[in-house]
Amino acid sequence: MRAPASGREAIAPAEPGAVYVDRETGEEMVPVARLLPLAPSDSALPRTPENLRACRRCDQLIGLDVSDCPYCGLRQEAL
Ligand SMILES: [Zn+2]
Repeated sequence: MRAPASGREAIAPAEPGAVYVDRETGEEMVPVARLLPLAPSDSALPRTPENLRACRRCDQLIGLDVSDCPYCGLRQEAL
């Protein structure tokens, strides 16, 4: 989901026709993408631990395919 004015994004389960609001800004958020689990998997998580690494500056878990840390902005090393 993305809030059009602020650009803030969130991952959340969504139902057709429901209205979703950013709890911090109060903006209505609109669905902009859909996450699909890799089959076969019992997990509902968007990423598995095997596809994560810790940012070396802020220690947040980020995807292996992410080039810039979404938390602190640090450019990640190539794998
Ligand atoms: Zn970081």
